[in-house]
Order: sequence, then structure tokens, then C-alpha cells
Amino acid sequence: MSRLYMPHPGHFVGARTCEFRLCTHVIGTSSPIAPHGFIVSTVGEWRSRPDVNGLGQIQELGVGTKDKPALYETMVFVARPSKRLCCPFEATGDELETVRYSTAEAAVAGHEELCTRFEKEGA
Ligand SMILES: [Zn+2]
Repeated sequence: MSRLYMPHPGHFVGARTCEFRLCTHVIGTSSPIAPHGFIVSTVGEWRSRPDVNGLGQIQELGVGTKDKPALYETMVFVARPSKRLCCPFEATGDELETVRYSTAEAAVAGHEELCTRFEKEGA
């Protein structure tokens, strides 16, 4: 099993204006559906409409509730090798899993939980 933390966001067209990004490649023993492992990607704190200060309001990434806004999102994809040296794997296809959170702490914990699960998924 191995886990590689990569510096660029792994999903979401608006990721460039997300202040929170975690992207991890995980691989267990070979899986027939994912011979190159999985991408676990989390983004959040999406400032979709930058104002004059370059900031703007944080937007939801999905439909949350008033008490629990969906400010962070983890998605899991099948990975394939990429040509980028900084991020040697990238997401392909549709997401296998989506989880949303309201806090950065919950997003980090959820991200790690999915990394651990998908490392084993290959077994
Ligand atoms: Zn990169």
C-alpha cells in the first residue's frame, strides 16, 4: 500500500479559487477496476466570485443545510498515470464516492478516512 500527497487539486472546475485543497493518490494491491489505484481529492473554501480584494464570499460546493453548509467536498476517482512530475497520477472517469463537510477539520478527517478505505479497496 502506498499514499502520495500531491500539490495540485484533483477535481472540480472551480478548484483554482478553492483555498483548501488535498489530493492523494492511494494504491493497495492491484484492483481489477483500478490497476493504477485511486485519487482521493478534497477541495473547499471556494470563493467563486472574487471581489476587488480578490476574496469574496465562500460558496457551497453542493447542497447543504443552514446548520451544515457543504463547504468542503471529497471525491474519489480511479487513477491513471499523468505526465506531470509534481502529480504523477490524475483522476479519470466518474466519481466513485462523494462526501461533503462543513468544517476543514471534518474535511481532513474524511479525506484520510477515504484514503485508508480505498487503499484497502484494492485488496
Ligand atoms: Zn501537480
